[in-house]
Amino acid sequence: MKNFISSVLLIFLISSCNEEASYYKISDFEKVTKTDVHVHIHTERLAFYDQAKNDNFKLLTIGLDSHNKEKKVREQYAYSVYQVSKHPEEIQFATAFTMEGWDEPNWLERQLQMLDSAINNGARAVKVWKNIGMVYRDKDGELIMVDNPKLDPIFQMLADRKIPVIGHLGEPKNCWLPLNEMTTNNDSTYYASHPQYHMFLHPELPSYEDQIVARDKMLEKNPNLIFIGAHLGSMEWDVDEIAKRLDKFPNMAVETAARMGQVFYQTHHDREKVRDFFIKYHDRVLYATDLGDSGKREVNDLHEYLHNTWLRDWRFFVTDEEMTSDLVDEPFQGLKLPKEIVDDIYLHNAQKWFKIFN
Ligand SMILES: [Zn+2]
Repeated sequence: MKNFISSVLLIFLISSCNEEASYYKISDFEKVTKTDVHVHIHTERLAFYDQAKNDNFKLLTIGLDSHNKEKKVREQYAYSVYQVSKHPEEIQFATAFTMEGWDEPNWLERQLQMLDSAINNGARAVKVWKNIGMVYRDKDGELIMVDNPKLDPIFQMLADRKIPVIGHLGEPKNCWLPLNEMTTNNDSTYYASHPQYHMFLHPELPSYEDQIVARDKMLEKNPNLIFIGAHLGSMEWDVDEIAKRLDKFPNMAVETAARMGQVFYQTHHDREKVRDFFIKYHDRVLYATDLGDSGKREVNDLHEYLHNTWLRDWRFFVTDEEMTSDLVDEPFQGLKLPKEIVDDIYLHNAQKWFKIFN
C-alpha cells in the first residue's frame, strides 16, 4: 500500500513537473521572498528598506573597517543597529573590527571586546576588508596579510561562536591588469577613479596570487570558521577557481556582490559551464549586490537604481532571455535555473549560512 501511494505520488510529481512548476518567470520577482546579503546602509533614512520591501528583499547590511578607524566602524555599527531596530524581520547586520591601534599592546583585547559586545547585540557576521593585505601597514611599514598569526584569536573566537566571517580579501583579478585589458566596465571605471587600489600601477605591492594564498592559508588554519567569500571570493574570473576552493573548504560559501559583470562575461564565453557551476554548488552561492545608501542620493533615483539592479539579476537567473548590461560589452543569455536552485541562491543559503530570516 505504501509503495502504491509513493508510486502515485511520484507519477503526480513527474506529471506536474512541467515548465510552469520548474521555473520562475520575470513576473514572479515581487512574489518570491529574496535576500541580498551584501548591502551598506550607512544612514538613518529608510529609503533603501522601502524599495527592498517593494521588491520583496530581506537584507544583510554590512559595516567594515573602511578607514582603519574605530570611530568609523562604530558609526556604521550604529546605523546598522538603527536599521535593524526599525525592521528586524527584514534587516540583519554584520559588523567589523578595526586595524587602528594594531601596534598597541591592548589592540587584540579591544577588538575581542568590541566584537563580543556587537555579537551580543545581534551582529550576525563579521566582515574583513581589503585594508587587510592592501592598505593597513604596521609601525615598520609592513602590510598585514590575513594569515597574520596576530589575527588568529579573532578568527578562533568567531569559529567557536559560529559567527561567519565575510571576507573581502584582495580584489578582482582585473585590478592587476591595465585598464584596457579589464573584462568588465565597472572594474575599469572603478580603478580609473581609484588608482590607489589599481594594483597594475603598484607592482611593489602583493600580487593577486599573494592575496589568494594568504586567504587560503587563513582558512587552512581555521577549518571550523564559517567563511563567506565576498565578491565571489575574489575568484570572480573563473567559476572553476571558486569550485576548487568550495571543494577544499567545506565551511566556505561565496556571494555575488558587485561581480555579476564577471558572471555575465563568463556566461557570454561558456554559458553551460557557468550554469553547471550554479547548479552543482547551489547550496554554496548567495545572492548579493553591494548596493548601498549613505543618505545622499535622491530617493527616486536610489529606488530606480536598486530596482533595476535587482530585476536585472533576477532576469538573468530565472529566464533564458538574451541580455545586455552596461557592465560588459558582450551579450549573454540568462541561465534559467530551476526554481529550487533560485530559492537556494536567493533565500535558503542566507538562512543556512548566516542563520537569518528563518
Ligand atoms: Zn561592500
